Amino acid sequence: MSVAIIGGGWAGLATAVELHRHNIPFTLYEATDTLGGRARRLDDSPWPLDCGHHLMLGAYHNVQRLLASFGKKETRRLKRHLLRLDIRGKSQRITIQIANVSPPLHLFLGLLRAQGLTMHERGTILRLTARLARNQFEINEDVPLAEWLRQQGQTRNLIDFLWRPLCLAAMSTPIENASSKIFIHVLKECFAHAREDSDILLFDGGISQALPRLVQQRFASSIQYQQPLQAFTVERNRINTLHFLDKTVQPQHVILATPASISQQLLSPHDTLRPVCQQIANIDYQPICTVYLKYPPHITLATPMIGLVGGLCQWAYDQQQGHIAVVIRGPGAHTAMEDGKLFNEVSRELHGHFPRWPAPSAWHIVREQNATFNCRSGVAQYRPQTDTPIDNLWLAGDYLDTGYPACVEGAAISGIRSAQAVIRALAPQSAASA
Ligand SMILES: Cc1cc2nc3c(=O)[nH]c(=O)nc-3n(C[C@H](O)[C@H](O)[C@H](O)COP(=O)(O)OP(=O)(O)OC[C@H]3O[C@@H](n4cnc5c(N)ncnc54)[C@H](O)[C@@H]3O)c2cc1C
Repeated sequence: MSVAIIGGGWAGLATAVELHRHNIPFTLYEATDTLGGRARRLDDSPWPLDCGHHLMLGAYHNVQRLLASFGKKETRRLKRHLLRLDIRGKSQRITIQIANVSPPLHLFLGLLRAQGLTMHERGTILRLTARLARNQFEINEDVPLAEWLRQQGQTRNLIDFLWRPLCLAAMSTPIENASSKIFIHVLKECFAHAREDSDILLFDGGISQALPRLVQQRFASSIQYQQPLQAFTVERNRINTLHFLDKTVQPQHVILATPASISQQLLSPHDTLRPVCQQIANIDYQPICTVYLKYPPHITLATPMIGLVGGLCQWAYDQQQGHIAVVIRGPGAHTAMEDGKLFNEVSRELHGHFPRWPAPSAWHIVREQNATFNCRSGVAQYRPQTDTPIDNLWLAGDYLDTGYPACVEGAAISGIRSAQAVIRALAPQSAASA
């Protein structure tokens, strides 16, 4: 028996851990010399940095289960913070602190005590959340989020100052295009069940030090680096041979855990896979730019993240020891700016919000062009399922139909599902050989 996993991002890594849990051997083929994909550690940064600051939520149960399978020590490295939204503009500041009580009171109390919102605005959000809860967080039509919020009576100020930054943080997609259904799914997962689901989770040392490092250490002999899959051949509706640059492999089962655009290229030569290719072809990507800044170690934010409105900066994240990451999601004026100018603009804006901070002593900018799939309204119809028309081929990746936007939880869910599909496919064979 042999299972080939193609791609060592969170989807491929989750597949590997789930297969191992069922004692199924695998070989993971990764195109580069690092695991982690879009959540990898950079190899050319002036100090240890990931390719983007990754925020996780208490609702990411699959991520937490995967990490727990590596022992208590690793679970302890996942630091939990009670959700506190702090969003600042030039002349307005909103703070909402989730109360440490059971749902739905945690949210209602948090909203009642929110600062920087008028009574009317608090009432509008409370009525909206009560309506969503009554409807089990389901809506019929996937209209763009800004339009849906207007239909729900949200004021322009609330949309610009609260919902826009939240939408960018959760979906990396501008609110004018973003899928209201997927945004509401995130709200449901965070607020409708346990109080802890709304927590902010941060892994010590960054996301690359979570699953990517752990899989690399535990499964070193099952991983092959610098092995980009070039093509595969199909015979009698089964993948027969995988073609790499300098070798071929004949696995029994294949999980393709590559980003949508690569999967599409690899699937497109095969007639039976044309419908899934046409579906995936509609998925496009959004950029994320991260400006890493180094201040003296005593510089810190009051919360793990602070929203910034009215300039280029969208969210500032505290990475401890004076390290601040400013994240700019989606397209915008920054994409045309050269790095030095962008750094000047970002540090000038930060100085406006935090006038006592000294100038940063170092900085580094990371621009990921294809950071997250465009989570626009209607995108759900283009997100494929795990199964394919080829008997021994399954798909994994954050772009699959998980209900989540592009995130490590979505990637983990897709990876676990693909592993379970292989386990199901192997079950009759194991029974026959027993
Ligand atoms: C800057 C940035 C910030 C982000 N912020 C957050 C956040 O705060 N919270 C959050 O949850 N998510 C965040 N994300 C999204 C998250 O990183 C992704 O959703 C997730 O990592 C996707 O995992 P994946 O396995 O589906 O795909 P990928 O990570 O893209 O992995 C695919 C892997 O396949 C490999 N590969 C490609 N082609 C081949 C081939 N032919 N053969 C073999 N291997 C191949 C690639 O090298 C890669 O390792 C962010 C992403 C970025 C870029």
